[in-house]
Amino acid sequence: LVEEAAAQKVLSPGLPQRFSVRTQRPAPGSYDYLIVGAGFAGSVLAERLASDGGRKVLVCDKRPHIGGNAYDHYDDAGILVHKYGPHIFHTNSEDVVAYLSRFTAWRPYEHRVLAQVGALRLPIPINRTTLNALYGLDLADELAAARFLAKRAEPCDPVITSRDVVISQIGSGLYRTFFEGYTRKQWGLDASKLDKSVTARVPTRTDTDDRYFLDRFQAMPLDGYTRMFERMLDHENIKVMVGMDFADLKQDGLASHTIFTGPIDEYFGHCLGRLPYRSLEFHHETHDARRLQSVAVINYPSEDVHYTRVTEYKHLTGQVHPKTSISYEYARADGDPYYPIPRPENQALYKRYELLARALTNVTFVGRLGTYKYYNMDQVVGQALATYRRLKLRHEAVKAF
Ligand code: FAD
Ligand code: UDP
Repeated sequence: LVEEAAAQKVLSPGLPQRFSVRTQRPAPGSYDYLIVGAGFAGSVLAERLASDGGRKVLVCDKRPHIGGNAYDHYDDAGILVHKYGPHIFHTNSEDVVAYLSRFTAWRPYEHRVLAQVGALRLPIPINRTTLNALYGLDLADELAAARFLAKRAEPCDPVITSRDVVISQIGSGLYRTFFEGYTRKQWGLDASKLDKSVTARVPTRTDTDDRYFLDRFQAMPLDGYTRMFERMLDHENIKVMVGMDFADLKQDGLASHTIFTGPIDEYFGHCLGRLPYRSLEFHHETHDARRLQSVAVINYPSEDVHYTRVTEYKHLTGQVHPKTSISYEYARADGDPYYPIPRPENQALYKRYELLARALTNVTFVGRLGTYKYYNMDQVVGQALATYRRLKLRHEAVKAF
């Protein structure tokens, strides 16, 4: 009971009783679905299966809380922080917004990031303001900025790697200043060893738009992510067990179908070898100041600084508080898996695991770790909603026979 009360406090006060830790083990066959992982992938599927499909669902997560990597909580100073680094919601999918809006209201927020280059703090993605400030120029319009970049671009054919994609557009000088060191720190690899999709997430602009994302919808859940997850999972057909590893439940025959949102290679006991993941370490601090940074995130591309970025959370949440909380982000080779590492040999190994997964009719793999894809939150929600539609069709087909 003490353990359960402690875990409930971790989640938030007044948590529904269906959220529990290590209570009595359910009887075999008590559920239609066992969902492993209470992040976006697992929570969306639990909600859909329970409230649209009328199915009985058990969700387990080995962490002591719901929300996966998007989990947020009030720290000791009472400031809402993201335990696993800054999570900014952005999407062009109206379906995803409509779906999540059932569980949260939104606070409009447009993300801005500065890169620390020597003594300068410059907009990233690189834009005209960045170029003018870095080189002491006065590029007046988009055409002037495009001409400036075209002179530096080093054509590259075909464009395959994360290095190619940057130098073919802006040249090796700007690449070294903004991408080389950051990428080496973040991935433990040179950009020339990574798929082009990685640095293509941060494309250079010729205008002065300094927003990190250009999506039509950019906002934060008004009461935080964890509150939103609580509302998704608060259904009489859903039981949540936090602090519970799948390994401790899988022999119990609790459900006829498993939805697995953890690392796919872990599910198969790494039988084909380990899929590489990048891990992170966060150092959270609270300061006796209202504000430390002019924007939510400062990136540190230099390899002389060991962290990659510093986040000040009050920018994201709009919280008014006399103190402020920040986190330093250090990339690590070992630890919890946070990022699949996009490169051809890893994709090839994932494809072999995917073949094993396809042969299982009673297990479905979803999410960033379950499908080894560098997905943002909205993409995971879209993937989970599509997965539910497929499961529903299958269920209806079985019923029709
Ligand atoms: P997860 O959130 O990882 O959930 C999987 C869950 O499964 C975890 O809680 C884990 O504990 C649990 N689990 C794994 N194995 C087991 C097991 N054996 N037994 C029980 N439980 C298990 N996306 C954006 O859109 N915007 C952003 O700004 C953004 N910023 C990010 C910043 C960082 C530092 C990181 C790492 C990611 C960021 N993302 C962002 C991506 C976002 O976190 C993911 O897209 C999303 O959280 C993935 O959801 P998921 O459910 O697939 O996985
Ligand atoms: N990147 C970089 N410098 C930056 C920002 C990003 O080199 O200032 C590269 C780096 O390889 C990073 C990738 O672009 O991993 C994607 O950046 P993003 O901010 O999308 O990463 P995430 O928020 O997913 O960690």
